[in-house]
Amino acid sequence: MTAIHPVYAAMAPTIFEHMSGLARAHGAINLGQGFPDAPPHPDMIEAAARALTERSNQYPPAFGVPELRDAITGFYARRQGLSLTREQVVVTSGATEGLAAALLALVNPHDEVILFQPAYDSYAPMVRRAGGVPVSVPLSPPDWRYDADRIAAAITPRTRLLMLNDPLNPAGTVASDAELAMIADVCGRHDLTAICDEVWEDVRFDGVAHRSLLAMPGMERRAIKIGSAGKIFGLTGWKVGWFCAAPDIAQALGRAHQFLTFTTPPVLQWAVAEGLARSDSWFAEQRAGWTASRRHLADALERAGFVVLPNAATWFLCVDLAASGIALDDREISERAVREAGVASIPVSALFEGDGPRHILRLCFAKDHRTLDEAVARLTAFRAALT
Ligand code: PMP
Ligand code: GLN
Repeated sequence: MTAIHPVYAAMAPTIFEHMSGLARAHGAINLGQGFPDAPPHPDMIEAAARALTERSNQYPPAFGVPELRDAITGFYARRQGLSLTREQVVVTSGATEGLAAALLALVNPHDEVILFQPAYDSYAPMVRRAGGVPVSVPLSPPDWRYDADRIAAAITPRTRLLMLNDPLNPAGTVASDAELAMIADVCGRHDLTAICDEVWEDVRFDGVAHRSLLAMPGMERRAIKIGSAGKIFGLTGWKVGWFCAAPDIAQALGRAHQFLTFTTPPVLQWAVAEGLARSDSWFAEQRAGWTASRRHLADALERAGFVVLPNAATWFLCVDLAASGIALDDREISERAVREAGVASIPVSALFEGDGPRHILRLCFAKDHRTLDEAVARLTAFRAALT
């Protein structure tokens, strides 16, 4: 008999895959899985097309084309004040692969890994497949703040790693400087390495420059910072990501990466390199579109009597179902709304293992305004029919 590893034996498709599949099957508006519906910026398409016809389509260097590794260090220097060298950057096939490489390289059998919940769905299974033990520290809505006592209570002599997703998907919240300092302090005192998943670093609406955990005092040899062009440019299908760490740590993680995907398509790497070198105003224009959609969905939901939780980042708004007059739990609402109302969403409880809040629904706002209006009209009629 073919014995499947227990991590995968009874595993369901991800909630994102599940909801997008249902959206396709039911012809629903897909506000579930996070991706923009706008055409990609023509500059990005032109750069990729030019690279495809004029440059190499063969294996690039395993750690990424030099132009992209340099563009990433330049981007972080300009926008986050980070001082990194090319040797500190390894290009991966999306942040998901970067996370996998980091966990495979860092986790030893029985190591405990602190995960805040809600968490991106790959974290816990990948920790387990690497032989580690996920230890969850739940965050609570509506603020989803990091609590020093809760973190301290989760730490044991076996704790080796901590995973931080900042800005936080699905909440759309951002850690404060004080929280980052507290987490850096915890890492220092307990000799922990931090994997900081910062894929949403450039999708912020609070006007504040992103501050990386890697930049906190004492973290240069303790943090692995993970990024994704998918979010920065709204090109989720390109799957160009990267990690940054101290040179020797980046090298070691790169060895894990070399036997996962080895490389990432070079033409997309060159196009992302050109994109990262664009001016602040180019990025501001892109963000203005997302800002307007965010406002549009929030206003439409609020006008219809839905209660929206505070949000400062990501492409997502979270609706408090209980406060919006819906007593059913998020999973049931999500499953019914895609079939009965033609609107796909993500139940936030799906990003918790074990107990979590069951009254929060995540909606992706990176869509055309008319699509958002239609989705809200459908959800409003759906809610009325429930009562
Ligand atoms: N981490 C988080 C928190 C995410 O939200 C996502 C994608 N939505 C990823 C990782 C994966 O990024 P990528 O598509 O580049 O693999
Ligand atoms: N992280 C994306 C989201 O939050 C989905 C990524 C995926 O489908 N694997 O929507």
